[in-house]
Amino acid sequence: MSIVSFEEATKYYGDNVAVQDVSFEIDGGDFVTLVGHSGSGKSTLFKLILGEEDVYSGVVRRGGVDIAGMTKKELLEHRRKTGVIFQNFRLLPRKTVYENISFAMEALGYDEKQIENDVPYVLDLVDLRHKVWSFSQELSGGEQQRVAIARAIVNQPELLLADEPTGNLDPVNAHEVINILKQINKLGTTVILATHDQAVVKKIKKRVITLVNGEVALDDPKGKYIL
Ligand code: ADP
Ligand code: MG
Repeated sequence: MSIVSFEEATKYYGDNVAVQDVSFEIDGGDFVTLVGHSGSGKSTLFKLILGEEDVYSGVVRRGGVDIAGMTKKELLEHRRKTGVIFQNFRLLPRKTVYENISFAMEALGYDEKQIENDVPYVLDLVDLRHKVWSFSQELSGGEQQRVAIARAIVNQPELLLADEPTGNLDPVNAHEVINILKQINKLGTTVILATHDQAVVKKIKKRVITLVNGEVALDDPKGKYIL
């Protein structure tokens, strides 16, 4: 069964259509890239998946369940199983790397022992164990994004949404972030990556869905895209 599916989904902001008649299915374990220029509807698709926005028509499903019909509890559970990372990292600047991750874990109900155990483990995954006591504002952009990734995957989400995660990074750090996302995918997490960066798409060589003005213009299993 697909982990995420869109069936003729349409979303308006006021009179403007942001997403139009979008249909696709993503299977558990896949790595899918959403490509499109700024304003093509990538972030809106993520908001629809997270249930932060509702469709005007059509259906968006998570694990076969209509997200618009979820109870509050179901929606929380779905979000709990979904990690999210953004272009601007969104870390707490005056907190340490450890605190940034432990804070998120506390919110999810983990106890101190589990936190002490898991934080070093996720930091290993992003190769940042040595920065555990650094303040996040002292880190480079690439390092900050790796902390944000560690925070997003610490509860082993089924699904990871990455919204332009390389948008503020130079090519070397962007490459590293992509490699980490690929590695997370290999460990079993479904990854949906949104980008408008051709260099990033070319590197991935997996299924690409191209959005043009909110519509799916191409859905290619081998990575062809239109930009
Ligand atoms: P992308 O992430 O590909 O840049 P978005 O999904 O953010 O695209 O935006 C798609 C369209 O919806 C754009 O025309 C954008 O201006 C519009 N839009 C996005 N968010 C809002 C909002 N909160 N209110 C009004 N219009 C919005
Ligand atoms: Mg966006």
